[in-house]
Amino acid sequence: MKKDIFVCMVFSIALCTSLSAEAIGVIAHRGNWKVAGATQNTIKSLQAADSINCYASEFDVWLTRDKQMVVYHDENVYPTQCKVQYANYEKDIANIRLTNGDKIPFLSAYLDAATKLNTRLVFELKVHFNDVNEREAVRKGIEMLKEKGLYDKTDFITFSQNALKEFIRVTAGERPVYYLRGDLTPAQLKEMGAAGIDYNTKVLRKNPQWIEECHQLGMKVNIWTVDKPEDIQWSIDNNVDYITTNVPSLVKEMLKKNNIHED
Ligand code: MG
Repeated sequence: MKKDIFVCMVFSIALCTSLSAEAIGVIAHRGNWKVAGATQNTIKSLQAADSINCYASEFDVWLTRDKQMVVYHDENVYPTQCKVQYANYEKDIANIRLTNGDKIPFLSAYLDAATKLNTRLVFELKVHFNDVNEREAVRKGIEMLKEKGLYDKTDFITFSQNALKEFIRVTAGERPVYYLRGDLTPAQLKEMGAAGIDYNTKVLRKNPQWIEECHQLGMKVNIWTVDKPEDIQWSIDNNVDYITTNVPSLVKEMLKKNNIHED
């Protein structure tokens, strides 16, 4: 009898552990860019994210003045300091070389490379000064993803509430849209139609209850940019759904040590 109770307890513990250990997706922040020959937001960093089987690779998108969609992070092009959203591609961007020697990629070329890979995409639209241009960038980005057959494997993120609303309106529930800025509650975002929060480590460590709130509302939690082992462990322990990181190999290693499956 005692043995039966013991066996029952072991099974219960095993069941609870397997139920609580939800899978976590590893998202390479601006690609897996720390590998040789790559740098942030390049096709090489996207391919490197795919080569280590990241759940997804994140990248940043701007619309230039002459209506070109380009993949780049900063507001100003280095080293000329020309604002990307005011740039003319041929005049201000075409001759720029990134630290690995690549040109700033057109979104179109970046997506063409993605069509040959398994990794999913996290498309961040940067905050543009002009709301109308920003909404146009949302529509152009989605149109391009659909043309390339990548729409169904792309999630959308943004710091801009204007872009957030446009993403939600255009995707109409077909694709997840997450908000980055950290100043809205899960309930407010649910009301707007967002899929969840994609908040900074500091924001979530200050408001850990938002993780549970999201889950109760049927929403997901992505956390960025999680590079330190203690923050990675905190994210694992607090049941986030996705970890966005500059060190995807380390996150993968720590998930394995914690017996957490990858999404
Ligand atoms: Mg980004």
